[in-house]
Amino acid sequence: MASWRKKIFKMGGDAFLNQQNSKGWIGVDLDGTLAHYDGWYGPAHIGEPIESMIKRVEGWLSEGIEVRVFTARASVPEYIPFVESWLKEQGLPPLKVTNVKDFQMITLWDDRCVSVETNTGVPK
Ligand SMILES: [Mg+2]
Repeated sequence: MASWRKKIFKMGGDAFLNQQNSKGWIGVDLDGTLAHYDGWYGPAHIGEPIESMIKRVEGWLSEGIEVRVFTARASVPEYIPFVESWLKEQGLPPLKVTNVKDFQMITLWDDRCVSVETNTGVPK
């Protein structure tokens, strides 16, 4: 069982995903997570790729897991094409670019997130 699915199983979400007949998707933040970030230089500027994260995304894709770029940039529709071009430059397929979380989201990788133990409010 893939590690991401084990985690979902532990959280009690596996049955939900099966019920939905969905494998779910993994959200990956852009600035500071998938791309180097040292400040805002406008929508056209996206930093150099963070290779370890790019490789991780490629691994998930090779397992058939959907990956979405989860970024505040998507809150401005005109900014999305810059992200799509950047993904293409990195040799990644056209991933969905969104700022919307839904019930199929498995995990979120983000440099600003604080992960908490389920039902406790305690940071991990
Ligand atoms: Mg970030």
